[in-house]
Amino acid sequence: MGVVLSVSAAAALLLIIYRLLAGRSRADVAYRLIRCPACAQKVRYPQERAGCTGMCPRCLRKLTLPEKAQPLAPALVPHRVGQRLLNRAG
Ligand SMILES: [Zn+2]
Repeated sequence: MGVVLSVSAAAALLLIIYRLLAGRSRADVAYRLIRCPACAQKVRYPQERAGCTGMCPRCLRKLTLPEKAQPLAPALVPHRVGQRLLNRAG
């Protein structure tokens, strides 16, 4: 009986620790958004990487991640899917 109790108590403790760690890693990381100047792709980066150099996931160009949060500029390139739908309709 004592063994069963201690095993389940250990399992419960592990579950609590796991949830604390998993929850913290998701909640504590603040992300910022910038738009790639080359291809207008929205790029998300962790706030702690501000000032570092990153890479655009779409065009693979080097990006300098700004230290201060910037308002996200609207995309200058029209969305391809929308354009295709417009062409089909017209
Ligand atoms: Zn890009």
